[in-house]
Amino acid sequence: MKIIDAHLHLFPSSPSTDGMAEKVGHENNTDHLRQVYGELNMVHGVVMGNRSLETGYHSYPEDLFHYCVGLDSTLLNEEKGPIPDLPDRVEEHLKRENCCGVKLYPGYNHIWLSDPMYEPIYQLAARYDKPVAVHMGLTAFAKAHLKYSHPLVLDETAADHRRTRFVMCHFGNPFLESAAAVVEKNHNVSADLSGLLEGRVNLEEYFREQAGYVSLLRTWLTAIGQWDDILYGTDWPIVNLGEYIDFVKGLVPEKHWEKVFFHNANRVYGLGL
Ligand SMILES: [Zn+2]
Repeated sequence: MKIIDAHLHLFPSSPSTDGMAEKVGHENNTDHLRQVYGELNMVHGVVMGNRSLETGYHSYPEDLFHYCVGLDSTLLNEEKGPIPDLPDRVEEHLKRENCCGVKLYPGYNHIWLSDPMYEPIYQLAARYDKPVAVHMGLTAFAKAHLKYSHPLVLDETAADHRRTRFVMCHFGNPFLESAAAVVEKNHNVSADLSGLLEGRVNLEEYFREQAGYVSLLRTWLTAIGQWDDILYGTDWPIVNLGEYIDFVKGLVPEKHWEKVFFHNANRVYGLGL
């Protein structure tokens, strides 16, 4: 089965980012990823952008990756406002074939998805027919505010922008009930399953000890039954790539694997694979 990783981050080499990859049994470089992708039949990845709006910063091997241009907190000015020319800068990316969407980080930015600064971004995404991925649910840093990344916040924006497509990252974890409701209600919202683990795990032990949590995940995914809207993703470099495939196989019934692991991401991000 071919696999697309619909959610990863590529960080430049530094002691901390290299350490993240080493902690999960990997190396922080694309040569290593290319090798592991080959071993696991991972045919493509969608890089969630960070840190820069320079188009030159976002040059990735095109046979392996597309990317979403990311509007993280490094792009706000000192008053937490948008940088000048934000829509034009984003459009420069959306014009590129290898840019397959936009990534928003509202919890980290302390900005509501309904904030006017995002309005032109939604319009552009609709015009280019490329989705807006949104970090939803728990955050990596305590200084982020969860109220901005709760799945119900996406409901309002998705309902008011029916021509814009959205991807709810991390299935809004751990706000699973709300996440399921938002995906079920809104035809323009899909969800990725990235970042539900962090670090290495013994899966047999994990499925036993975390049976309650795993059951909640399975329950809500199965309850809405929208297997055309659920995308496999890892949130590399925080997980071991082989382990994460087995983890998601443990959540998703086998008859839906082809869609979840490949076809949905290919369609939603327009990867043309
Ligand atoms: Zn991520």
